[in-house]
Amino acid sequence: MKYIARPVFLISALLFISCGTPSDGLLDPGTDSLNDSHTRGVRDAEICRHGNMEALSDGVCQFYGKYNQYPGSLDDLAAINPRLCSLTCPTCSLQYEYETDINDNFLIRCPLPEDPDHGFIDNGLPSWPPDPSNWQQACQNYMMHTASACAMYYGKYNEYPEDLQDLVDEGYLPVVYQCPACNIPLHYTRDTLEASYTIHCPLPSDPTHGYIIDGIAFFPPDTTGSEEACRSNMICLATAMAMYYGKYNEYPEELEDLGTSGIYEYWYTPCPACGRMYNYWTDAEGQTYAIYCPLPWDPGHGSVYDGMISAGSDRAAVVTIPPVRSIP
Ligand SMILES: [Zn+2]
Ligand SMILES: [Zn+2]
Ligand SMILES: [Zn+2]
Ligand SMILES: [Zn+2]
Repeated sequence: MKYIARPVFLISALLFISCGTPSDGLLDPGTDSLNDSHTRGVRDAEICRHGNMEALSDGVCQFYGKYNQYPGSLDDLAAINPRLCSLTCPTCSLQYEYETDINDNFLIRCPLPEDPDHGFIDNGLPSWPPDPSNWQQACQNYMMHTASACAMYYGKYNEYPEDLQDLVDEGYLPVVYQCPACNIPLHYTRDTLEASYTIHCPLPSDPTHGYIIDGIAFFPPDTTGSEEACRSNMICLATAMAMYYGKYNEYPEELEDLGTSGIYEYWYTPCPACGRMYNYWTDAEGQTYAIYCPLPWDPGHGSVYDGMISAGSDRAAVVTIPPVRSIP
């Protein structure tokens, strides 16, 4: 029964991910001169999915974060944002369907009966294909959902499913998920003797989107744009270091001192790829320092050494922020 504890972590990790960016994207259908019904159809689907259903899904996650349970109905979302309660599908003007159950699942569905079908969001996962920039995240969300379903299946049958279709037949998953980058169903193997299973991204090339063994995820860092963002974090820190030195004639003992001194409020901003704060080192006299991206993978995102910023995979690019040496 040890396996039952894991999905709790998986689900909360998933919620964290899907709630990471509180979307304020309530698109307003507004008035316009769209006479072309195809253009109108594309626009409506966009508003219904990315504007309304994603905002509702974020609202449900925020509600969970605040009250530790899902709302009983969408009207309860008034506690989060009253605008959410009045959202309707721009095509049919009906309110969204919402379901939740005792197993902490939730579903938000566009009320449109058939074609054009705007789809649904099941436990934070949209039924429509993700944009390429979200493929890695989406694939990893699919793997985590599948792992949670495996754990629930194990709780009931005391063994892992023979294949992923069993999870669909049992109602634990809406479909067998596919990697959005290659449109191939996730690979799954189990070892009945060892009570062990593996789920992995079927991408034929390396690196893939990662894999999960017995509920433990092994995901490569999402490097889409994160190196650039990490670098700009380190530039901000290096700038703050130079200002600190200018004021105190030495570097701070801890990164936190940048905050307490009022020089840099956001000293704790983490690396966007690994979510951890930067490593910091200074000598006993506070005359030299280093800041490292905590990313453990090679080549990582680089470091700052006394204002010299070197980027991990682009070592030619070095930015120097000289410390402001004040004359005693
Ligand atoms: Zn979207
Ligand atoms: Zn709709
Ligand atoms: Zn994948
Ligand atoms: Zn980094």
